[in-house]
Amino acid sequence: MKIDILTLFPEMFEPVVGGSILGRACENDILDVHLTNIRDYSTDKHKKADDYPFGGGAGMLMLAQPIFDALEAVGVQGGIREDGDNGRCRANKKVVYMSPRGKVLDMTKIRELSELDELVILCGHYEGVDQRAIDYFDMEEISIGDYVLTGGELPAMVLVDAVARLIPGVLSGESSALGESIYSGLLEYPQYTKPRNYRDLEVPEVLTNGNHKLIELWNFEQSLILTRERRPDLFEKYVKEHAEGLDKAHKKVLEKVQR
Ligand code: SAM
Repeated sequence: MKIDILTLFPEMFEPVVGGSILGRACENDILDVHLTNIRDYSTDKHKKADDYPFGGGAGMLMLAQPIFDALEAVGVQGGIREDGDNGRCRANKKVVYMSPRGKVLDMTKIRELSELDELVILCGHYEGVDQRAIDYFDMEEISIGDYVLTGGELPAMVLVDAVARLIPGVLSGESSALGESIYSGLLEYPQYTKPRNYRDLEVPEVLTNGNHKLIELWNFEQSLILTRERRPDLFEKYVKEHAEGLDKAHKKVLEKVQR
């Protein structure tokens, strides 16, 4: 998957896309993350990339011109063309603007984005960007939550990380995104590592007895308990969608938790 990130602060991304799981995915050509400094495309002699908003109001807005040129330089077509081939309409390519005005990012959206061939992400800064850039390139606005950050860089990192984890080959064989909280439909059960006893705190006995069937049922029960306590909305959805398909042993565990 090719990901273009357009930002005024490309250096913020280096530790994230250069290291750990994402860095390895880039090295293995599973991900191709390309950073573009929007300021490089400013035609202003001082490389200005922002100005005061028309009509007044606090703060500065990112100028349309450098954003238009930077997007076109990474191959995004704007405007409404007869063949409908603008950045968003083209199959398997999408332009996203990180914005607190957008729909809040969730698993459905992350899954949808992980199936794209190309994702282009615009990071805003200051008070945001000139609306014409959003309209002309038909961007989808995505928020990472109901709070406001100073720039779109951290939200873009959250988006890239979450999307990348679903791309086959990004996670190593033993770790699967699908068993984790939310993706499985339930929150993840508690986990423990060595030693068995630490400051008199014991690992639950069942996890140390080697009985894989019992361990799996215990994990399932713990997931159900946590989900019911912390996310009753998810619990209800899980019961509605999965209870029917459970085998006898798992059904028994579910009934115990529901009591
Ligand atoms: N004036 C804007 C508003 O009220 O909607 C907020 C601008 S914010 C200070 C600067 C930039 O940070 C935005 O353009 C956006 O790219 C990014 N940003 C801030 N909060 C965000 C969030 N919750 N999700 C995604 N992006 C966010």
